[in-house]
Order: sequence, then C-alpha cells, then structure tokens
Amino acid sequence: MQFEDVIIPQWPTPPNIRSLVTTRLGGISETPYDRLNLGNQVGDDEYAVHHNRKLLAELLGEEIEFQWLCQVHGDRVIVLDNGLVDEGTEADAIYSTEKNIACGVLTADCLSVLFCDSEGKEFAVAHAGWKGMAAGVLLQTLANFDAEPSDIMVWLGPVIGPCHFEVSDEVRHAFLSMSVDEIHNEKDILFQPSENNGKWMCDLYAMAKIILGAAGVKQIYGDPICTYCEFDSYYSYRRDGKTGRFATLIWRTSSHS
Ligand SMILES: [Zn+2]
Repeated sequence: MQFEDVIIPQWPTPPNIRSLVTTRLGGISETPYDRLNLGNQVGDDEYAVHHNRKLLAELLGEEIEFQWLCQVHGDRVIVLDNGLVDEGTEADAIYSTEKNIACGVLTADCLSVLFCDSEGKEFAVAHAGWKGMAAGVLLQTLANFDAEPSDIMVWLGPVIGPCHFEVSDEVRHAFLSMSVDEIHNEKDILFQPSENNGKWMCDLYAMAKIILGAAGVKQIYGDPICTYCEFDSYYSYRRDGKTGRFATLIWRTSSHS
C-alpha cells in the first residue's frame, strides 16, 4: 500500500490535523471485497482484513493508533479522552483532542464527515447515512466541540450521489421531521422525483451541507463524488450488496510540520 492508493482531503486544516480516505487499492482482499476492505463485519476473510489494516498502519507510521467503532446508524458520539475504547462500542461518531489516534469510520455509500477547530485542538469524524443524519449525528458531533460552529471546519467524503440514491417517502419524511427550516425550503432540490413512482432521488451531500450550514458551520469543504458511479475507487453497498468498506480517518499529531 502506498500514498498513491489513498486520497488526501483538500481542506485548510491546521498542519497538526491530518486526514485520509482509503480506496479499493492497495490491499489483499479478494472479489467482491477487492482489494483494501477494512470492514470486519461484511463477510470478508478475517486475515485479509487484519492484513489490510496492518498495511494502513504501516502507511501512517508506528506512532499512530487506530480507533474504529461498531457503527449502528444512530446519533451517539464517543468522546475519546483517555486512550482507545473497544471497537465493539456502538456509536457513529468520535470526538477527541488526543494525539496520534487515527479516528475512522467505514463506509460504502454513507457519508463520512470530518471536523476540526481552527486551532487544531479538537477534531471529530462521523458516519452519516440517511438514518444517522436524520437522527442528528452531525449536530450531536458539533455539540461536543468547545469551539463555536463558526470556528469549526468540515470536510464531506465520498457518498452515494443523487444520481443513484433512490429512497422511499420514509426517508424524505425523516428529514422533513428534523427541526431545520432550511430542509423544508430546499426540499425540491434535496429530493427530486424518481422515475419510479413514489420514490425520490436524495442528495445526502447537499443535505449535510444544509444541516451543518443551518447549525452555523461556515467552512464546508469536499467534492461530491458518487461511490456508486466510481467502482474503481470505492465500495458501494447499493451497487454491489456484498462488498467491502473504505475508511475516512482524522488524527492530531504532536508536530506542527
Ligand atoms: Zn452515481
């Protein structure tokens, strides 16, 4: 595994905040998990996942530890302030001020969101599919910061796009039930009628921008890349069903270089 195999998010963080998104490239998993599957709950060979995680650890360097979660599409945020917690901990976001712990979420269509404050003291990562996002996971993550939302920057990762994310009325209702006026104002952009009767094409990326913007976050970065469209780079549950997971990671280093 090499740095060519991963994506470095382009956002103007303080230099001690690092982030990275893995792709399918660089690992040893076999089809349909090929190649760098990092999810250990998706039916892939245990050894392959372990080895892939080791390759990622080697890329980041030996001083970096890793924190993963048992993601459950909820709104719980783990506050990491005393070293690692068990990977079986059920939550969908990690907030921390600790150094040298890469906090990651694993996705295959759901949105991953990175957060940090302008001084590089606080950072967070969230896993936000429609369920978690409508349950408020992005707002819960923001609520853990000492910094004001206007002093927090955010980066949005690859996510299934409105070209492929067809949803039922249930999903639309869940978002319209959030007390965010802007979702109502923009609902015709966020949910376009699908060619299938009674279904909608949902724009999760735009939804996250609206929810975060309404909460006072002004610096929002990222490129809307559709995981379903980009087979060569990303896993997509909607496209493939049985498939791997790629990681979005953020960590704080002790150096300023
Ligand atoms: Zn697409």
